Amino acid sequence: MSAQNNTAFYPGSFDPLTLGHLDIIQRAAALFDKVLVGIGQSDSKKYLFSTEDRRQMVIDSCSHLSNVEVQVYKGLTVDFAVKNNISLLIRGLRTHIDFAYEQQMFEMNKTLSSSVDTLYFPTAKEYSHLSSTLVREVARHDSALDGMVPPAVLKRLKP
Ligand code: ADP
Repeated sequence: MSAQNNTAFYPGSFDPLTLGHLDIIQRAAALFDKVLVGIGQSDSKKYLFSTEDRRQMVIDSCSHLSNVEVQVYKGLTVDFAVKNNISLLIRGLRTHIDFAYEQQMFEMNKTLSSSVDTLYFPTAKEYSHLSSTLVREVARHDSALDGMVPPAVLKRLKP
């Protein structure tokens, strides 16, 4: 089986998808033949949204991007990549905290599989303050979410 060289795999929790995530997906979609967004499902994590909701919000928000696909996965990201012949992960970088975490993750992934590499996208300036955690907190206090999430997410956070 040949490697899916032109496929980039973007793993994350997406709980929920923010405009920061969407910006990374759009930029990657312009560079690669296919972007596969991986909705992580971990038994040890507590999510606000169900796996199906997290998946559907990404599908709805990426309907304008014909080369983006969405798939739920369990287990280690790098194992999923190897099983699916994917050799490139993409991740976003906002702060030095992201950088420190991603560097560790990169080293671990390389140790587990030398065939999988990671490409990092620096956050767009207007989204550098956005995280799913902060979006959930703002929504919990019923504050405005303008400029933070796509419409498909807004309607689920503020039904
Ligand atoms: P995880 O639980 O795997 O960190 P997230 O859904 O929180 O999943 O994030 C997925 C990826 O998107 C991570 O690489 C994260 O750094 C990146 N990311 C999250 N928010 C932004 C943003 N506002 N700008 C750029 N990248 C982001």
